[in-house]
Amino acid sequence: MIIIMERNAARGQIQKVIDLLKDNGFDIRLNQGEIHTVIDAIGDKTTLTPGRIAAFDGVKEVKIIREPFRLASRDRKAEDTVISFPNGVKIGGGSKPVVIAGPCSVEDDYEGLLKVAYAAKECGCEFLRGGAFKPRTSPYDFDGYGLKALKYLKKAAEETGLLTVSEVMDVSDIELMDEYIDVFQIGARNVQNFKLLHAVGKSSKPVILKRGLASTVREFLLAAEHIMYNGNPNVILCERGIRSFDSAFTRNVMDIASVPVIKKYSHLPIIVDPSHGTGQRYLIEPMAKAGLIVGADGIMIEVHHDPENALSDGKQSLPIEMFKDVMSRINNLNEHLHYEKACLSSNIE
Ligand code: PEP
Ligand code: MN
Repeated sequence: MIIIMERNAARGQIQKVIDLLKDNGFDIRLNQGEIHTVIDAIGDKTTLTPGRIAAFDGVKEVKIIREPFRLASRDRKAEDTVISFPNGVKIGGGSKPVVIAGPCSVEDDYEGLLKVAYAAKECGCEFLRGGAFKPRTSPYDFDGYGLKALKYLKKAAEETGLLTVSEVMDVSDIELMDEYIDVFQIGARNVQNFKLLHAVGKSSKPVILKRGLASTVREFLLAAEHIMYNGNPNVILCERGIRSFDSAFTRNVMDIASVPVIKKYSHLPIIVDPSHGTGQRYLIEPMAKAGLIVGADGIMIEVHHDPENALSDGKQSLPIEMFKDVMSRINNLNEHLHYEKACLSSNIE
């Protein structure tokens, strides 16, 4: 890291920082400019954190050179992580992009859910999603059917040959959910619920980690690091839009650039969720396509058999026929992208 001292830092203050660094095994190089003293320090940031150094009087700024996430970092592991499921489905590493489709919440209508599941399967999707435990802004809103929803989800997925994804909100639900789901989802609102991240880190099931409403990409990757540090390397990141100043036409601002940024700095797979990313039915197709074009490893789309009467997120849910139409064009795009990739790699060879 690089420590920039204040322009009027006293000699004693500079010396105190140097001593601290040396005591903690850092190699240092001192650059005494006319105005600022800058200290180059190389060592283990786990023994002495940048935050501790910043607390010393006379320190203006501490800049880190290496990213603070380690296990999630591309520096640490150059090749893409590929997450494989027993039925042969793969996420990441240039595998065919996966599609996770289903209602926001699993409702008390098994037949409705089954219609969605059959449509998803027919369109080539790999996963059926649906919330059983719903994080709701208002305590008066519908918050999920819990165990009953998990049972419906698993039954519909088994009947149609799909894998299941559902959000876990509480550490105490992990054991129960484990029997019904193939992938845990950590929602945007829980991206920094560290106890929950640690608990899914101890699970052997893959985890879809959604970007928080106000997470920077670095914070997002550090949240993934919490899961990986606890033993679970199978993290799938999900860009689902962030809060910004303009919510007039879209629910969130879907940060498309985060996909290639994350690909540059991390080996983890990343998918996009244009349903929560935009909150608007008509934007799902263009933003799903945009995500795939910039390299997303999959997409998550909310689909409902009767969006007008959905218990949550009806406005952004695609009705089944529209979903099929959108999927036919997305499947075409994927074939095209695959063809381009194949041409590109044969040109390189
Ligand atoms: C969801 O996927 O239904 C959901 C609540 O998403 P997010 O956590 O991204 O808001
Ligand atoms: Mn939703």
